[in-house]
Amino acid sequence: MSPRAAQNWAALTDIGRVRAHNEDSVLAEPPLFVVADGLGGHEAGEIASHIAVETLRDHAPRRADAPALARAVRAANKEVLRAAKEGVGRTGMGTTMTAAIVEGTHIALAHVGDSRAYLLTGGELRQLTNDHSMVADMMRRGQITEADARIHPNRSVITRALGTDADMVADPYEIEARPGDRLLLCSDGLTGMLEDTRIAETLRAHRDPADAAAQLVSAANDAGGHDNISVVVVDIEGSSANSHGVRTADSVTRGWVAAVLWVLAVVAVVSATAYGTYLYAQRRAFVIAEGDVVSVYKGVPGELASIELRWLEDQVTADTSSLSLGERTRLTEGIRFDSLAAALEYARSLESSPGPAQ
Ligand code: MN
Repeated sequence: MSPRAAQNWAALTDIGRVRAHNEDSVLAEPPLFVVADGLGGHEAGEIASHIAVETLRDHAPRRADAPALARAVRAANKEVLRAAKEGVGRTGMGTTMTAAIVEGTHIALAHVGDSRAYLLTGGELRQLTNDHSMVADMMRRGQITEADARIHPNRSVITRALGTDADMVADPYEIEARPGDRLLLCSDGLTGMLEDTRIAETLRAHRDPADAAAQLVSAANDAGGHDNISVVVVDIEGSSANSHGVRTADSVTRGWVAAVLWVLAVVAVVSATAYGTYLYAQRRAFVIAEGDVVSVYKGVPGELASIELRWLEDQVTADTSSLSLGERTRLTEGIRFDSLAAALEYARSLESSPGPAQ
């Protein structure tokens, strides 16, 4: 009998150094791996992430099928909503969810919120999922850099979560990895404390997934441990000659082309769901300035551990230097309005008048 191979995965969750509860939940039952970061405070986040993970486990497909996994995340969303309605936890509790099914070199992901999936491939770390967060929206629009996002006052504001909207959908991704690649799922307690370069170094430095996971958690704690920290590390094994449907994995480039095509498909799905989110979002709105760019969001500006939904509605370029210091400060933190129309009107009143033609 050949010696049993060391386990090719590890999962860890840690309370961190600041929080009173660990509201994250992790699950590692190969081929299924999940990280969920609960929101809602007073232990409600813990309940939400736990319900979500348990429900996902019951509904997840057995194969690396991203659309089916995304449907299982929707079932988990409905269960969190139902529990809150029935008085389990708290109304408004919610959770992020990043779920993976690893089948040989084929990885299916379904994702909601600001937890993340990364792949270490050829020694390089690539983020596989797109955050559903206000700062990610701002980065995609080129308004702020990643360094700005790390210190932004609204960096904890997420734009999609389980437990907020019955019509919520998860983003599906399918990735063709290579044997020797390493998958990482993590909550923002890791990525908020450590730069990607540091995460990559740590993943490269420890061959055993259990060591890598433990070192990531301890590095995040050494950096401050401001939030609960969850990590799942999975080493990709198996033969790259496996054929999964139409794709072959003989080239990582082709794998990544496939990933890009998936992301494009996902963008279409996300656009279709914007309407559902729009229906859900309350009539409240707020206006917030970042330099010369003034953005109008539905929802309210962020408080930690709340999961109020916000959605970018409009942006204008404004010359805020003509405002009073008080107004400028309030605008940087976000000014609330009772209606979207009022917020839009206010933002437009700030808009710079076009300069004289050149
Ligand atoms: Mn967190």
